[in-house]
Amino acid sequence: MKSEKLKVESSKYILRRPYVKVIVAKNSGFCFGVKRAMEMAYKYAKEHPDKKKYSLREIIHNSQEVKKLEAEGVKHIEKISDIEDGACVIVSTHGVTPTEKNRLKEKHLNILDTTCPYVKKIHLIVKHLAESGAQVVIVGDKDHLEVSGIVGYAQAPPEGKGVSVISEIEEVKKMRVSAQIGVVAQTTYNLVKYMEITKAIMEKAFAQGYAQVSVHNTICDATYNRQEETIKIAKQAEIMIVVGGKNSANTKRLYSLSREILKTVYHIETAGELKASWFKGKKIVGVSAGASTPDSAIAETVKKINEIGRKHK
Ligand code: SF4
Repeated sequence: MKSEKLKVESSKYILRRPYVKVIVAKNSGFCFGVKRAMEMAYKYAKEHPDKKKYSLREIIHNSQEVKKLEAEGVKHIEKISDIEDGACVIVSTHGVTPTEKNRLKEKHLNILDTTCPYVKKIHLIVKHLAESGAQVVIVGDKDHLEVSGIVGYAQAPPEGKGVSVISEIEEVKKMRVSAQIGVVAQTTYNLVKYMEITKAIMEKAFAQGYAQVSVHNTICDATYNRQEETIKIAKQAEIMIVVGGKNSANTKRLYSLSREILKTVYHIETAGELKASWFKGKKIVGVSAGASTPDSAIAETVKKINEIGRKHK
């Protein structure tokens, strides 16, 4: 294949002599919420040079970025009990429960809250739903930090009718329904799946004679745009590389969406994980990345793919 005939689609990562066609999602790299959180955290670290500083859980789901922040003196810890009284603490983009927030306050900590505004909006919605007596249904990953935080805000006794977390449509069958239901989605959930699940919830509630189901589209734009573009690229590509944290919900979602279209999809955190054998005979490579993946990781991935392509030419 002659290199002059090939081009890299993305305006962000154009290389002079690419040997494979690499299509990079324009909606890749840090999203608004992640960029905001990282900028806030670095500023905060600089402003408190002599204090003990902690990040309660990973500020974003990207271990390389967590390490960079640690190099600035912000130690990543998992439990509130590991934070000494009076220290500085950063609340991650995924948020915490109201109970955890109170525990941080009780320890007289200097708190920097980087919870994404989109996540905070869900906290307000579910709090209001619970206070008005609705059963709150959260569609998302049961074990995800964001969901745990939302569950905390949805528990508003005594009026609230309880909280259910649904990850897959099959779970709707077993779900109890009450007269008033409010449904929200984890910010990184897939819109198509969310619509299917909300439809199933409505059908079940209506069949039991209940008529009040309110559905809130709380999937954030950054997630939606990344998912849409990833699907488009996967349809054109012969192999997809999804770059991002292995524990990043939105990156994992991009991987599974691509896998519905292509068999040759790989989820990597860094360019070092790329294997030359994956690209044998492949001329069109798609690259997508989660919302917590830095631009540098994407650029290094594209560079390495081109190096591999050069060897295979
Ligand atoms: S993916 Fe959406 S909700 Fe999550 S941090 Fe980014 S902007 Fe906020």
